[in-house]
Formats: sequence, structure tokens, C-alpha cells
Amino acid sequence: MIVRDKNKAPPTPVTPATSCFAPVLLSGVPMGFGDLLRFRHCDRTIFTLGEPVDPAGLRCPICRQAVRLGLMEAPVRIHAPIRDGHQTACSFLITSQLGAAGFSEENESELHVGISNSKGVVFSYTELGVQRQQEGWEQSIIVPLVAPGDDTLSFRMLWDQQLETFSNLNTWTGDRFQEHREFGSCCYGFALSYINHVMRSEGKEPITREHFTSQYILRRTEAASQYLSVYQHVCLHGYYSTAESHGP
Ligand SMILES: [Zn+2]
Repeated sequence: MIVRDKNKAPPTPVTPATSCFAPVLLSGVPMGFGDLLRFRHCDRTIFTLGEPVDPAGLRCPICRQAVRLGLMEAPVRIHAPIRDGHQTACSFLITSQLGAAGFSEENESELHVGISNSKGVVFSYTELGVQRQQEGWEQSIIVPLVAPGDDTLSFRMLWDQQLETFSNLNTWTGDRFQEHREFGSCCYGFALSYINHVMRSEGKEPITREHFTSQYILRRTEAASQYLSVYQHVCLHGYYSTAESHGP
């Protein structure tokens, strides 16, 4: 199980509440996370920052030549999978005590999950009961729970109301945290139970933990881990390239 419960609230950021970025603990990465570009040149797959530094356009960091690619070889933009959870509405969020660094393979930090309301306030279950946080989730993996078209004002109001009511249930008090922990369901149990609460109210079948984890979580945590190792390398060395000369 990749998603582990964490018994403490995420650390309070040392940056002011108005800042868009929490401190990034990865060495060599200056601040927030950006997109990456992936393309083939010099018989390698190369990753660079999403915005080419050279105004003349994309240049291969290995041979230094301007990259002219055919239609089928157009660079692929890889969007940063780690984003500010407070800028997202009605989503399932995953963060760690170390911020984004907790998603990297070396750290294997405990992960913490929560649900955001329509205003980006994140609700999560901890040993102090349900926390409602307006900061601390600046570096999160986001799983949107609502299709953009369904995101109406009345839906948002209902979502916020349901989330508040659900969080006030006796099930999620601080003194019952250890009880939940025995079943391995603390913060993850709270978030998934809320999703199923909404599913039931819409007359849909609830989703199992195994299904939600395999369909929505693992793919994203693995992608975030891979992105981080490449992004960190690009920030330190300007680019990252595979050694092989096979296809992408
Ligand atoms: Zn080249």
C-alpha cells in the first residue's frame, strides 16, 4: 500500500500565507514545479524545462544544434504533476510531511490525504480530528473528483455543505483516530468514505479502496516520483537524457 496514513497535520509552511509556493526541499530545485519537454535528438530521449531558455527556440543540449523535428516527432509537454492543492476545488489531494520531496523514491515519506472544498480549503483526518486547512497543501498530487461541466454553483454549495456535515460526524473525532488506525484507514478512510457518501447520495455504487487506489492513486504517485527525479536532474544539470539509442 503506497498511501500511508500520517498521524500529524502537515507542517506549517514557513512562507507567508500569501505565498504561492511552499518551500521546496529538493536540492537544486528553485521553487515551484514547471513543465518538462521531452523530445528525441542525438539518438537519445532528452528532457528539458518546458520553456526553452534560448529565445531562438529549442536547442539540443548535447549537440547544441537547433532542434528541427518533423510532425510525428513534436516535443511532448509533460505537465507538472505536483500542484497547489489550495488552488483546486472539490478534489482528492495527496501530500507528504516533506512536501513534494516525500513523493520521490529516496524519501518514501508518509503520505497524507484530504479532500478540498470548492474554495480550496483542505479537510483531512488527523489525531486531532478533522482539520480544515488553508495552507500546507501547496505541493500536492491532485485527483479531480468532479467533471468540469458538472462544477456548477449549486453543486459547489452542496459539496461544501456535505463535506462540512460529513466532517462533523462522530466517526471522525480525534479520540477515535487510534481505532481507525488499527484498521489502517485513518486519513485515507475519511477521504474515501466521503467520496462514497457523495456517490451514494447520487445513487451510484460505492468505490472500493482497492479500485480507487489502483485506478486513481498509484498511477499518479508513480508519475510524480518519475517526474521529480527527472525535474531535479534538469534543474541541476540543465537537461536529462537517456543513455540508450532506442526509440522513445
Ligand atoms: Zn542533438
